[in-house]
Amino acid sequence: MKLKNFADVLVMGAGPAALCIASELVQQGLKVEALASNSPEAPWPNTYGIWAEELESLGMESLLGYRWTDTLSYFGDGKDLVGLEPIKHNFDYGLFDSLSLQKALLEKCNGLLWRLETVEKIVFSQTETEVICHSGEKYSARIVIDAIGHKSPFIQRPNKGPVAQQAAYGIVGKFSSPPVGENQFVLMDFRPDHLSEKQLKEPPSFLYAMDFGENVFFVEETSLACAPPLSKNILEKRLYERLSHRGIEVKEILHEENCLFPMNLPLPYLDQPLLAFGGSASMVHPASGYMVGALLRRAPALAKSIAEAIDLNPSLSSLDLAKEGWKVLWTPELVQRHRLYQFGLKRLMSFDESLLRNFFVAFFKLPKKDWSAFLANTLPLPKLIVVMLRLFYMAPLKVRLGMIGL
Ligand SMILES: Cc1cc2nc3c(=O)[nH]c(=O)nc-3n(C[C@H](O)[C@H](O)[C@H](O)COP(=O)(O)OP(=O)(O)OC[C@H]3O[C@@H](n4cnc5c(N)ncnc54)[C@H](O)[C@@H]3O)c2cc1C
Repeated sequence: MKLKNFADVLVMGAGPAALCIASELVQQGLKVEALASNSPEAPWPNTYGIWAEELESLGMESLLGYRWTDTLSYFGDGKDLVGLEPIKHNFDYGLFDSLSLQKALLEKCNGLLWRLETVEKIVFSQTETEVICHSGEKYSARIVIDAIGHKSPFIQRPNKGPVAQQAAYGIVGKFSSPPVGENQFVLMDFRPDHLSEKQLKEPPSFLYAMDFGENVFFVEETSLACAPPLSKNILEKRLYERLSHRGIEVKEILHEENCLFPMNLPLPYLDQPLLAFGGSASMVHPASGYMVGALLRRAPALAKSIAEAIDLNPSLSSLDLAKEGWKVLWTPELVQRHRLYQFGLKRLMSFDESLLRNFFVAFFKLPKKDWSAFLANTLPLPKLIVVMLRLFYMAPLKVRLGMIGL
């Protein structure tokens, strides 16, 4: 069969997922096209955090804009099982220098041109997939990868009811006194002493905070996952109440962050002709909300599998190519691990704030290599089960009962 001269792969999007997968596809020597509503050089709206070790394992730690060694969390209320003292993580955490990450990925794309287009419709046929844009332009490729984020209307997935979302309201700014210690990073400050009896019964939230130096700090009131999500107004109010309880006033706001994204989006159907990567492929870690480490780790294998499939059978249909991709992206092992994480998240979402605090104290008593690999999703399935069981046996009775839904 004579094939038309169109791209092997068309990548839709210009966020971290699109740049990760496009760069790996180019490295495989494939003919790649890319399009997105915005330029891949436009600064990303979000800042991305990651445990430094995850990046070190990829040899990419130089892409961190900030790195903290003094990393800790607070889970105590002084009267419960847990004291007021922080739990020290003794594990470096960092924030990507987003522009450097974008630049590094674009360099790997070897000059790939992104067309500024917004996709409206996708049409599938035996030999190609056609993407139709708002501008009226049409682009074809052997296979299309949807990397347009979790709101993609093109990826089909089962409806499993309300989706839990992580919501956060944060401020980068200057304060009357430091909200966290010098050079410090606070992963979760769950101290509840500023909350009223009524607020204690509402879905919990915690403070995620860090020192940026030169009297600038980032403080963010975060709800791990909730359906429906906590509103920006509630989170903003809680943030100000928390700060004011500690005698801290906001003096200057340099930047505000509103964060809302799904934590337990059902996995896409793995037999659809459109492949996905990133938020649209439900790759956000259901227990932590992190994804960028997984994108960097999982893009090379996906790109390689597509290149091999095209090489092996140049007339493979879009559907068969996509199926090859889905098989590599969501292996049975990764699907099982995802299910376990989703089960865990569901249980956590049923915990009140006291139970949640006690759960996290037990979680961070796990060996560091276990809790960090749990959060990065790098534990093989049997080991993940062992770690989850160990956590169950280590946890106080009331947490155990919560874990089994009693
Ligand atoms: C505020 C916030 C903070 C986060 N913090 C972290 C973190 O610290 N660490 C972490 O690992 N994860 C974090 N996440 C989770 C996750 O990593 C991000 O949501 C990430 O941006 C998802 O990447 P993506 O490339 O899949 O989608 P997006 O970043 O949403 O990018 C989608 C791209 O597709 C384009 N697009 C959309 N629709 C169309 C269309 N119809 N046609 C063409 N182009 C289109 C957009 O313009 C954009 O370029 C955070 C998420 C949010 C919202």
